[in-house]
Amino acid sequence: MDKILVTRSSMPPMEEYIEEIAPIWDSHWLTNMGQKHEELTHALEDYLDVPHISLFSNGHMALELALQALSLQGGEVITTPFTFASTTHAIVRNGLTPVFCDIREDDYTIDADKIESLITDRTVAIVPVHVYGNVCQVEKIEKIAKKYGLKVIYDAAHAFGETYKNKGIGSFGDASMFSFHATKVFNTIEGGAVCFQDEEFGLKLFRLKNFGIRNEEVVDGVGANAKMNEFQAAMGICNLRHIDEEIAKREKVVMRYRENLKDVPGIRLNVLQEDVKSNYAYFPIVIDEKVFGVTRNEVSEALGKENIFSRKYFYPLTNTFACYNGQFDVNDTPVALKISKRVLTLPLYADLDMESVDKICNIILQSGKN
Ligand SMILES: *Cc1c(COP(=O)(O)O)cnc(C)c1O
Repeated sequence: MDKILVTRSSMPPMEEYIEEIAPIWDSHWLTNMGQKHEELTHALEDYLDVPHISLFSNGHMALELALQALSLQGGEVITTPFTFASTTHAIVRNGLTPVFCDIREDDYTIDADKIESLITDRTVAIVPVHVYGNVCQVEKIEKIAKKYGLKVIYDAAHAFGETYKNKGIGSFGDASMFSFHATKVFNTIEGGAVCFQDEEFGLKLFRLKNFGIRNEEVVDGVGANAKMNEFQAAMGICNLRHIDEEIAKREKVVMRYRENLKDVPGIRLNVLQEDVKSNYAYFPIVIDEKVFGVTRNEVSEALGKENIFSRKYFYPLTNTFACYNGQFDVNDTPVALKISKRVLTLPLYADLDMESVDKICNIILQSGKN
């Protein structure tokens, strides 16, 4: 039987991409904010319903440079360990100190009720994550940020195209980072973006992704190189034409999973949040071994034997990474620790067929009976 991987990149018809990149052979303009880059910028501002957007070579550099553009002079950043390595690394690589807040039991996002007790006179910002596309408690976070004068940058890598109360998810906080990596709902092969409110911040960010160059004779930022090239932008233009169909197909897959796995004792499905237009990015299940009978690892192995690849996403927590040399105490975030040991994300992509979904669910249900 063919392998079923946890995800499969969305691609436009090949002819469409070839047509999109053909003009590049006339212009010979391959990167540095070319025509495709500008076209995708405007198309994404519209689609995402955000005031401004700046495109990047990848999501990680987008987040790292967004933090740098805030010009924080050191200090503590409140965030969560239930995320991809990128979020925590972006904070640390800016010379800032992550302070880990626990997550909510029901949607796995930062527990806004626990943020205030972590604020000190060194706190400068909050970096929450819209985990699996589950939207954070944006109103509560905004209130706290205002009260204490903190910046808020969302890791919205999972939240492409979502809205909360009919507003683009990238319009909350001071800035939001999206990832357009091949494995995400929308891709530019590799790629990413920062959505932001303040134009001055945007200008700083723009220079930081181009070595901090202000003009031919003045370099006044210690920048990096994180520009999106024309071939990436062309892939984005093509994929954006099909994004609504792709998300609709993902929704069908998710609904089939939900139907098959609803009311199974010991298996908890992801929440459906009110006021959120979802992008159906991931399908995480949380397995309670005591009720279900077998562990998350055993379910993952049972699937693996049938050539089906699920992912322990997010495990381990970032506050346990070897590179951080035991600086952080994982017991500070007990809910995140518990969920990370029990969560399994199942294969999900637009073209996953219903037969495969049923098969995956049957293997999971059978494994519980052993
Ligand atoms: C994918 C991802 C990133 C990093 O994005 P890249 O485009 O791969 O650099 C950051 N945070 C989260 C939560 C992600 O899933």
